[in-house]
Amino acid sequence: MSVNQINYKNILSELQTTNTTLVAVSKTKPAQEIRELYDIGQRDFGENYVQELTEKAEMLPKDIRWHFIGHLQRNKVKYIASFVHLIHGVDSEKLLNEINKEGRKNNKVINCLLQIHIAQEETKFGFDRQEVTDLMDKIKSGKLVFEHVKICGLMGMASFTEDMQKVKAEFEMLQSLFKEVKQSFPEMDTLSMGMSGDYNIAVASGSTMVRIGSLLFGARV
Ligand SMILES: *Cc1c(COP(=O)(O)O)cnc(C)c1O
Repeated sequence: MSVNQINYKNILSELQTTNTTLVAVSKTKPAQEIRELYDIGQRDFGENYVQELTEKAEMLPKDIRWHFIGHLQRNKVKYIASFVHLIHGVDSEKLLNEINKEGRKNNKVINCLLQIHIAQEETKFGFDRQEVTDLMDKIKSGKLVFEHVKICGLMGMASFTEDMQKVKAEFEMLQSLFKEVKQSFPEMDTLSMGMSGDYNIAVASGSTMVRIGSLLFGARV
């Protein structure tokens, strides 16, 4: 198995015109394949599992920007806080509190995205529109303060379906929420949406960051 460099180059050139960041999702794939993409210039990599991430981060070059894109348990924040570049899946105030605490211990500000539940599937984590609006209101008014967290934007996953109209509608919903939240927080600049099967639709709906795994590394077992 090795990296699909042709897909990599094609995706990069597609994304170039829209200024979208590519996060190469390397979960379950060996460090050696990450290294292969690194050697041709890729720096942003996404992982879903804390232990796997910490092991790979130790073995690989220090200038890799590691994105944690999985569901993060509060008791595991401490293992990634010191080096993680961006945590995509923040889905509760309690988790934000924990990240803030670990940020303080590490004397840094940790970049986060709030995960929004846009799919119809019950299994996907995240805030709904009302919850995220309430949370951001509390932050705006100073009721909630996270000195060691920077909320850079929103993240979402569309339904796993062949129905691309539905996927499009979900991404557009997230884009409109992002625009709304940005009115109070203009510094937010990241909308993470789009994977191997739907990144084109996501980019057309205003995504600024796509998370692509299988097109680059092949199918996962
Ligand atoms: C695995 C995963 C991806 C990448 O999925 P592909 O379909 O392989 O591109 C993107 N985002 C999240 C949150 C994931 O868990």
